[in-house]
Amino acid sequence: MIPLPPKAQAIIDTLSKKGFQAYAVGGSVRDIIMGKSTYGWDFTTDATPEEILKLFPDSFYDNQFGTVGVKIYQSDQSDQLKNEKEPVDIYEITTFRSEEGYADRRHPDKVVWGKTLEGDLGRRDFTINAIAYDGKTIFDPFNGMSDIDNKIMRAVGNAEKRFSEDALRLMRAVRIASELGFTIEGDTFQAIKTLAKLITEISSERVRDELLKLIKSAYASDGILILKNSDILSYILPELDASFAIPQKSPKRHHLYDVGMHSVMSMKYCPSPDPIVRLATLLHDIGKPPTFKQDPNGLITFYNHELVGTRIVKTICSRLRLSKNETDKILTLIRWHQFSVDERQTDSAIRRFIRHAGKENLDDILALRIGDRLGGGARETSWRLELFKKRLEDVQKQPFSVRDLKVNGFDVMKIFDCPPGPIIGETLNALFAQIDEGKLANDRDLLLSKIEEMKSK
Ligand code: ATP
Ligand code: MG
Repeated sequence: MIPLPPKAQAIIDTLSKKGFQAYAVGGSVRDIIMGKSTYGWDFTTDATPEEILKLFPDSFYDNQFGTVGVKIYQSDQSDQLKNEKEPVDIYEITTFRSEEGYADRRHPDKVVWGKTLEGDLGRRDFTINAIAYDGKTIFDPFNGMSDIDNKIMRAVGNAEKRFSEDALRLMRAVRIASELGFTIEGDTFQAIKTLAKLITEISSERVRDELLKLIKSAYASDGILILKNSDILSYILPELDASFAIPQKSPKRHHLYDVGMHSVMSMKYCPSPDPIVRLATLLHDIGKPPTFKQDPNGLITFYNHELVGTRIVKTICSRLRLSKNETDKILTLIRWHQFSVDERQTDSAIRRFIRHAGKENLDDILALRIGDRLGGGARETSWRLELFKKRLEDVQKQPFSVRDLKVNGFDVMKIFDCPPGPIIGETLNALFAQIDEGKLANDRDLLLSKIEEMKSK
């Protein structure tokens, strides 16, 4: 068996030297069994929070969850602790529990300190999370090891009962499955499907956190499809759920999928690791269901879906309590995702696109486009897209506003031999317009002679 990392083993040793039982448990144990890297270790012990606090000088008690957090610093020397401002990790130590009664489907009505390790493991959500390890022996009363081997997520005990107690487990099941690439066992899946509606009783913030973790995970597209198949999607993103019923195969179009499947595939192939960009990619066609039209020849169109989609996504972002910055980014990416890469468009059209999308969003909107292409069965890029990317860079080297001109108001006043007045701005604007249209270069000598010419007119 793999040894625990020294800092995790030290927690166990400190507790057991004082006669307490102590075990690593939860996601980190699962991760090291799978040979994955991990962080945020969790421990369970029969010591009370007060007893734990006494043993770890750099610990704090989180009343709400009944958990003692221990700050973990980079170096091992405790006398160096004071020199290090930021802990690199927090380890959480929780006293054995057995929980009873979940009136709000999230928080137990009363937390009861448990007496045994087995009792504590029994209140945990999934068998793969209910394995305890003290560095020497593994305690696995629910056969989590064999479920890890078979890549299976299974509720501890009666699945319906466990999801009814705490509906966040519905999202945790799908999120952890999509992080690990596991299958949800039949009874557990059926219970999720039966109880999917309970997710509406969980706070939007918790749902959002799980959703973003899922979207960031290795098997995110499978995760969204599990949400779809288990009906959870119809409660947390009904707009996306509806788009699976919208076809888009039509003459002269190369679409392989319905709108929902295309959305999932686009997110799958979106090269950005940023969950906000990936969420925008997942929702980029959310305006298609309400704009769907089919003419007598079978041709399907979705006119203005990006505008309609922007409005829909605004309500989704506020429902998920995304921050203003996150919301603005998603709205911008969706509003302008239909940008043209036509090689015949002018520089000023490309500049207008940059102004709309924002310089800081260009990489992200291109990532959305790549996802959109691959998710529709096209190749990753085309010579047009490559040319467009190059032109995006080129036009940014050219002036963007009158302020970037290589001449200014003083030059105009000097040549015109006139006092400040509206004519100065008009002259500069006229020069800028010509440069913006690509008819003139932003070259000082050239511009000065142009002003001379304008004077004589
Ligand atoms: P991650 O850290 O990626 O969220 P994790 O499985 O470690 O995954 P934590 O939230 O850190 O999850 O919780 C640690 C452990 O506590 C879990 O592995 C599980 O045993 C237990 N646990 C967490 N949340 C629940 C829950 N809602 N119901 C039952 N047990 C839970
Ligand atoms: Mg954890």
